[in-house]
Amino acid sequence: MANKNLSLLDYSEITGSAPIALRTHGWRAKCLQRLVRLDLPVPKTVALSFNAVRAIAAGQLPDLGGLVGRFASDQLLSVRPSAENSDWGGPSAVLNIGMNDERHAAISQTHGEAVATALYLGFVQAYAVHVARLDPDLFPLGEPCLPALQAALYDFEKEMEEPFPQDPKRQLAEVLRSMARAWEGTSARLLRQAKGAPEEAGLGLVVQAMAGGFGTSESGAGVIQMIEPVTGAPQVTGRYALGGQDRGAVSNNPQAIYLTRDPRGPSLEDQDPEAFAQLVRHVEVCRLKLREEMQIEFTIVNGQVAVLDALKVQRSSRAAVRVAVALAEDGIITRKEALTRVTPRALSELLHRQVDPRGPREVLARGIPASPGASTGRLVFTSTAAQASASRGEPCILVRRETSPEDIRGMHAAVGVLTERGGMTSHAAVIGRGLGVPCIVGATGIRIDAKNRQLHTGRHVLDEGELITIDGTVGEVLRGAPNMLEPATDRWFNTLLDWADEIRDIGVRANADTPSDARSARNFKAEGIGLCRTEHMFFEDDRLTVMREMIFADTGQDRAAALARLLPMQRSDFKELFSIMQGLPVCIRLFDPPLHEFLPHTREGMKQLADALDKPLSEITRRAEELAEFNPMLGLRGVRLGVTLPEIYEMQARAIFEATIETAKRGEKVVPEIMIPLVSAMREVELVKARIDAVAAAVRVAKGSAFEYRLGVMVETPRAALRAGEIAQHADFMSFGTNDLTQMTYGLSRDDAGRFMSYYIQAGVFPEDPFHVLDTDGVGELLLIAAERGRRARKSLTLSICGEHGGSPESIAFCRAAGFDYVSCSPYRVPVARLAAAQLTL
Ligand code: PEP
Ligand code: MG
Repeated sequence: MANKNLSLLDYSEITGSAPIALRTHGWRAKCLQRLVRLDLPVPKTVALSFNAVRAIAAGQLPDLGGLVGRFASDQLLSVRPSAENSDWGGPSAVLNIGMNDERHAAISQTHGEAVATALYLGFVQAYAVHVARLDPDLFPLGEPCLPALQAALYDFEKEMEEPFPQDPKRQLAEVLRSMARAWEGTSARLLRQAKGAPEEAGLGLVVQAMAGGFGTSESGAGVIQMIEPVTGAPQVTGRYALGGQDRGAVSNNPQAIYLTRDPRGPSLEDQDPEAFAQLVRHVEVCRLKLREEMQIEFTIVNGQVAVLDALKVQRSSRAAVRVAVALAEDGIITRKEALTRVTPRALSELLHRQVDPRGPREVLARGIPASPGASTGRLVFTSTAAQASASRGEPCILVRRETSPEDIRGMHAAVGVLTERGGMTSHAAVIGRGLGVPCIVGATGIRIDAKNRQLHTGRHVLDEGELITIDGTVGEVLRGAPNMLEPATDRWFNTLLDWADEIRDIGVRANADTPSDARSARNFKAEGIGLCRTEHMFFEDDRLTVMREMIFADTGQDRAAALARLLPMQRSDFKELFSIMQGLPVCIRLFDPPLHEFLPHTREGMKQLADALDKPLSEITRRAEELAEFNPMLGLRGVRLGVTLPEIYEMQARAIFEATIETAKRGEKVVPEIMIPLVSAMREVELVKARIDAVAAAVRVAKGSAFEYRLGVMVETPRAALRAGEIAQHADFMSFGTNDLTQMTYGLSRDDAGRFMSYYIQAGVFPEDPFHVLDTDGVGELLLIAAERGRRARKSLTLSICGEHGGSPESIAFCRAAGFDYVSCSPYRVPVARLAAAQLTL
């Protein structure tokens, strides 16, 4: 209730009915009111509103008689900050306001001089540093004793040219003023704005009666919560410190004791079972009524428990999942509410091993966190070394300037990948995410000395074979092998995602190229494969040579012979994928990359190829030079290869159809989807479609079997988006390849942008990396135009996204609003997409 006598001060004693709101008094005041309403033993508390604190900061310090009059005359007080959001911080709490010579003498009588001196000295120190802003070095936190107190009082008087204030009202006024002003300071503003606070965020203050903690053996303070914060498992957690006055007493205090009975030392449960049982009941009441796992800050004086404060238990992502599911299963919150309690992105932390946050970490270098999870291995610099290491059973981390398709086998063999160059959609990043291998790209601070097989990280030089850890979740390279947490795709995780599936209304498929990707996709309950990049199938050892024979074929006949050898390999790939996906849709993209990606890049490689193909080295190098392109991403690739070298697509279509028939013979129905990449004109689709239809007809006749298939296009050039209306006439579906579409819309190379992207973002040129977060303004407009024109031409057109953006919650929201049927993303992002999609319906 506002006190009329103190017109400038809008303050309320916290009672069950006091007008306290988050937006006017902050989270702490609001939370304390809830605790009061639950009849928990909260010491008398008065809350100052944001307006009051603003007025105080502006110098309108009122007479505090009314406020102080709420408390007993000899009551010591504390003041604590109460911003709207607990994450926004605030000035440090000040305790024991009211300590002066008179109280010192009185407490010396009742509790002994040592106790009184410790309280008084602590207050003088806090006041001198936080309120009078004196040099902390003048007021060291040494042993509390009478001479130290006298020295502190003397130094205060000398510096301030007045004695230490004795009037409790004046002390309180000065504390309030200094806290109010601290909130307005530039660094405090910047800090909270970095945490998402708005410019005009207000601060409330909470004035509370100190509840004991007078340093006798019967009193103390501590914190208690009912869950373990890393796993979320039920476990009484916290500490209690004799003589303490608030939570500060237990942090880093080796004297603090356990709460529950513990073989390692004394516990509160042993010392005061009654108080312990009371505390447990209080936390349980909070869970039930505040519908959250809370941590309570408490004191105990002569067996009397006081609850000073409560806040949401700080927790890891895995604990957040378990807590949300447990609360819903206990009927405390609804399933829908449980779904809102977990941030979708946080789920990816549960899918991989993580560095245990409780242990130490020595950071050697930083880069872009391109594929989450952590792994430890020995440093290697080539794919060959990675394979050799894997064959010895030694986990290794592959470090490259950047990776190319040639490194696929090395990446398969490595447990982690680090590249100096690249961004979120560069080769290493895409493959790393697909494989679930932790990966850091764009680590511009590292330098690879290939000759001496060393990695320079600025301050350190690491030799090949040294043990390092890649933390792909945060983008840090760590020395050695820190402790790890195992993945947690446990019952809690699966339950939460099953609930998500019950309510989501947009499909989630996975991008999967290999059987192991497909198995991960199934494991994470993807509803099909939205993109199978077939070219990755040609990089296997035995196939690469045949592929190269095909590329170097002099005549159509030679090319046909090489393709005939590739056909059964592709057929068996597709059969395996179909059988793993058990009737779910599988969308196979026809060959996409430029052919020269399959050629060796070193002279030694060229020589080996010359041997394998039995051709002179000069011819091999000449042909390789012919295939080289100035701008390969915009050259002879995708559908352009399909049009100019149609035999490749024909072979792939045949392999898909034959695999479909053979799978159907085993009783599993398949309707394959064939996708044409990099289309920019309707005529390209017409030409390719005519040939694929012809292959289908031929296979039907040859095998005497009927089957169906769907044919669609990837929209990854701006022109395809603009001409979607006519293209849709020949396509059953359109899937947006937003990696290339972003690259071409911006005219920004997805493999080179990482070099300057961070500068661009820091300078505010782009709000985010558009390869990471879909540019809804530009690329998004193309998506909307294409969706609208495509659907107008063909109502049943299936729309989806399969670029890397497909797994990000913001893009999923965009695609859902645009009426897309599904999103497709790396298998390891499928759970994130499932939860994000569900949250959109709430
Ligand atoms: C894309 O361009 O968005 C896409 C999915 O294809 P890729 O990344 O293979 O070019
Ligand atoms: Mg593409």
